[in-house]
Order: sequence, then structure tokens, then C-alpha cells
Amino acid sequence: MSVSPNDRVYLDYNATAVVRPEAAAAIAHALEVGGNPSSVHAAGRAARALVEQARADVAALIAAPASTVVFTSGGTEANALAIESAILAGAKRLLISAIEHDSIQETAHASGVAYEQIPVDRTGRADLAWLAARLARWDAADGKPFVALMLANNETGVIQPVAEAAELVRAADGWLHVDAVQAAGKLPVDSRALGADTLSISAHKIGGPQGVGALTFGPRAALSRRQHGGGQERGRRGGTENVPGINGFGAAARAAARDLDSLDHVGWRDAAAARLKAAGAVVAGEPAPRLPNTLCLAVPGFASDTQVMALDLAGVMVSAGAACSSGKVKQSPVLAAMGLGDLAACGIRVSGGWKTSEADWNRFVDAWFEAHQRHVSRRAPAGVA
Ligand code: PLP
Repeated sequence: MSVSPNDRVYLDYNATAVVRPEAAAAIAHALEVGGNPSSVHAAGRAARALVEQARADVAALIAAPASTVVFTSGGTEANALAIESAILAGAKRLLISAIEHDSIQETAHASGVAYEQIPVDRTGRADLAWLAARLARWDAADGKPFVALMLANNETGVIQPVAEAAELVRAADGWLHVDAVQAAGKLPVDSRALGADTLSISAHKIGGPQGVGALTFGPRAALSRRQHGGGQERGRRGGTENVPGINGFGAAARAAARDLDSLDHVGWRDAAAARLKAAGAVVAGEPAPRLPNTLCLAVPGFASDTQVMALDLAGVMVSAGAACSSGKVKQSPVLAAMGLGDLAACGIRVSGGWKTSEADWNRFVDAWFEAHQRHVSRRAPAGVA
């Protein structure tokens, strides 16, 4: 029996958040306003005003000066802009945490520059002793060290020791890039207090539209020109701005900042986790500090794809680790980097957001128990119930 669309439960906010009504209204408004922000006439000035208001709102969410916010096509491009800028500024070796998003890992890989992975411990936190030792024997021929450490991991929600890493990087006269795509809107993010030289965020993870993101940069980071063209974004990214998307991003940033205190899912999430743990599930990342909305769990022998499909049939949408573009379910490199071995193919990620209720978490738990029960009975030897 299929579940009606209205009866489905969406618990995959870390893949993409449900679009906030404020963002949808702002997108529609920008389309009505029209105009090219580079035009000097009234319509152009109106579009420019929307872009600059959105820049101020996005900057406020991450406590950055508005003049340092560059709009991009998303978190992926913002991460690439940071890495490519560092390389153009002379970095010849990159230190990337082992749990960074593919947009960092693959950009580092494709850059042709040497890169090393910063290991993580079993809770998924970056090993700062390793980083300190590596920076202490830095070879000046490798240029200034470039370090990428995300603020919160997309699969486990584990919050990384970014401010501590920033002190090490600063002492080594390096460049710290912080991917705050998953943290923004779920935690207070202060890019300057964190010590980030560059920091990326993405609209669709906070309830804005897909295809818009931003990079902020501090005084020590020299940003390069990403796209040549009409000099938009102060010459850093040519091309007519995505005004509706940017306006939706700004509205989502305002709403996310407003909701920061009320988005407290920890109680619901932990109640769900306690019930699943009693059935043998392992919560990845415990006891490290984690995003309040994220639960990553694994049961030995209960494959991720089986869980995701069974839950989907029951009308509950979660994901198997990182959502990959092909829709394929693969072993999670994040769980593998945490040393979770066979569990890396058995993890699912459940993530709530602004529209999630306690009833949604309960629906997930009930559906999961049904799926788990079927899994256990299939594996039970003949004659055993
Ligand atoms: N960084 C992290 C941690 C993410 O989770 C994602 C998206 O899943 C991205 C970057 C990429 O952002 P976008 O989808 O806006 O390109």
C-alpha cells in the first residue's frame, strides 16, 4: 500500500531543507521586481537593493562584514573558490580533514596540488595533535599551509574543533577554510570568532533555494577571480547575479537566524536514539558534540540501502550517509574514516529541520522498528520466530 504524499515524513534536511515560505515569497518578489542589478535605471537599482539586502542578511547569519560576502552557485562553488584562491596565492600542499564533503575532497584531488588527509578519531573529531605535528614540520617550499576543516559534518553532525584548529593554523601563518554549510542555521556561526580565513555556506541547507551559496573571507585571504565577465561581485565572480535565488537566500538567512533558539530537536532526536540503541543500533559520533538535528546510526548487518528503502516504503524519507548525485548508496567514507569498519555500509542519516515535529521523529522510530523486525526475522534460523 503506498503512502499518500501528504502523509510522508521528510527527515533529510541535511540533504536539502524544506523551502521556507519566506524564501519562496522572496524569490517570487524578486521575479516581479525584475531588473539587472548592474543597470543604473530604477529597475536595476531595485534589483541591486535586493542583492545588497540579502548580502547583509547572509552576512549577519555568519557574523561577517557584508562587504566580504561573495555569492556563488552553492556550497560546492564556494568551497572551490576558497581552495583555488589559496593555490593561486601560492599554496602547494593542502591539509584536508578526512571527513570533508566531496566538494572539498574532489576539488583538492583535481587541483593537481599535493594534499594530505587530517585523520579523525572514533567519534569523528579531527585529530589536532596530528595537525599540530604536521604544521610543526612544514616545508617552506610548500608555500603557506592551507587547511580545510568543516564546522559540522554532514553525515554524523559532529562539530569540529575549528577555533582550536584556527589557532594552530594562524601560528603557522596558514589559511583555514571552514565549510559551514551544515552548521549554518543549526548553530550560531561567528566566522571571525572561529578564526576562519574563508567560510562557505549554502542557501538550500537553511531553507532557501538550491543553486545559491556564499563565501566570506577575512583580511588574510586573497580571493582570486572565479569567473571573468562583467565585474560582478566586485570582480570576483562575473555574470549577472541570480537575483531571485539570492533574495530567497537572504530571506532564509533571516528566518534561520530568528529560529536558531527555537530549533531545538535534541530532546526528540535523543529519545529516538535511545529507543534504537536498545535494539542494537550504534549512534555514530557519540559522545562528541553534534548538530541538534542530526542522527547517524548503524546496525551491524542491516544494510543502509535496505533501511532507506524500507523507510521510504513506509513514507519516511531519510538518507544513507551523504546523498550522492547518482542516487547510489555506497559505503560511507566518513564512517570508514572514523574506523567504524563494516558499519560504514550500514549507516543511515536522519535529519530534521524547521518544519519537523516530534510526531515525525516518532513516525521514523515506529517505521524503523517494523523494518528492523522484518530484517531480524529474515535472518533468524528456521524454527526461530
Ligand atoms: N559542504 C557540505 C558539508 C555539504 O553537506 C554540502 C551539500 O551536501 C555541500 C558542501 C555542497 O553544497 P551545495 O549543494 O550547495 O553545492
